Order: sequence, then structure tokens, then C-alpha cells
Amino acid sequence: MGVSENLTAVRERINSSAVKAGRNPEDIKLVAVTKTVGLPEIVEAVKAGVTILGENKVKEARDKISNFKFQISNLKVEWHLIGSLQTNKAKTALQLFDLIHSVDSISLAEGINRQAQKLDKRQRVLIEVKLSEEETKQGVSEVELMPLLETVKDMDHLKLEGLMTIPPYFEDPEKARPYFRRLRDLRDEAVQKGFDLPELSMGMSNDFEVAIEEGATMVRIGTAIFGERK
Ligand SMILES: *Cc1c(COP(=O)(O)O)cnc(C)c1O
Repeated sequence: MGVSENLTAVRERINSSAVKAGRNPEDIKLVAVTKTVGLPEIVEAVKAGVTILGENKVKEARDKISNFKFQISNLKVEWHLIGSLQTNKAKTALQLFDLIHSVDSISLAEGINRQAQKLDKRQRVLIEVKLSEEETKQGVSEVELMPLLETVKDMDHLKLEGLMTIPPYFEDPEKARPYFRRLRDLRDEAVQKGFDLPELSMGMSNDFEVAIEEGATMVRIGTAIFGERK
């Protein structure tokens, strides 16, 4: 199947899981994850109605985004950074991305805030929370979350919009459910304390339906749209 057929199938699955959970499908944004994907497929996805594109590496995204803008100047898309960010690449990241999903330390938040001030930009960000013990995963721990939220809230050039998580990979997506539920609970606790955190970025090709049932507002989907990565 081609990209646009895959997209139709993914959209139908998003809609039916939203309806099943008693939610409005329009409250769920699809982030099409284009890491390792070539420009022709990306263009096809955008022509088929995709409006948000996600990349996980600043360097790879830089050329892709400028080529994309050169080829498609009439369709407006947002680019999101979904992979981890090093502070020394913050300046480039700010020039490329509308939303950064992966803020996971006070020093990174400070770096982004500083660069955003220089660029006279208010950078939209999510905080990435690590809910599993896996060594390879990025993100703040649950105990670090509240202090980071408090810090980011006071940064004039950051616009904090919500939380993001990547659970461990499970063959059976039901096993990811407790992680999604935990992120939503952490969000709800923060909202009780006065934070405004509308976005929950959670769910990938293998588990996005469960994530939607647990409150995801952004699902990050690559393989189910573009096929297996090479
Ligand atoms: C690659 C990636 C995705 C998409 O994964 P698929 O399983 O291909 O849908 C989502 N989120 C992040 C952070 C990723 O790096």
C-alpha cells in the first residue's frame, strides 16, 4: 500500500478509537514521523492532508526541512522535534521546529529559553517524562517533573503545552496502557496545582489506539504510514 492509503487507514483507526473512548476525533493530532523517510513520500503525505511532521534528529531534519520548503511553499506544515536535544543544538532546533517534545532537564530548558530570547521567539515545548527504568530512554523522572514544570513556567520565552512519554516497546499494546495512564495522571496532578497542560504526546504505530483511549492528544506515527524504516 502507498502512503495515502496507509494514511487513510491510520486516520480511520484514530477516529474509531476516539469514538470508542467517547472523545472527539478532532482533539487528536497526527504527527507523521518522517525520520529516514525521503522527500517524495513526505510530499505525498502532505498532499494527502498531513499538517504535522515529526523528526528525531536536528541534523537530519535541517536539510530535509529546507528541501521541503523549497519544493512545497504553498502548503503550511508544522515541524516537531520528537527526539532528544542537546543544548548545543538548541539554536538550530529553534530555527527549525514549531514544537519541541523532548525537554527533559532544567539546563536544556535554560538553553532553549536563552536562544529563544535571542531569536525573539516564544518556543512551544513539551516535557518528556521517563516512566520506565530503561537506561536508553530520555526524560525526567516523576520526582524531577514538578521542579522542572515550576522552572519552565517562569521562563518568558518558553510556552509549555504539555507532556510526552515513550513507553517501552511491547508486542502487546495493552502492556503500554499503564504508562499512558500514568502520564495522564501526572498531567492531571499538575493541572490541579495550576498548570495549563493541554497536550499529551503519546502513542506510536504499535500502540496509538491504547494511547488515545488514555487521553493522547498527539500521536506520533511513522511505520504505519511510511512502512518499515530501512
Ligand atoms: C520513531 C519515533 C516514533 C514513530 O515510531 P513508529 O513505531 O514508526 O510509529 C514516535 N516517537 C518517537 C520519539 C520516535 O523516535
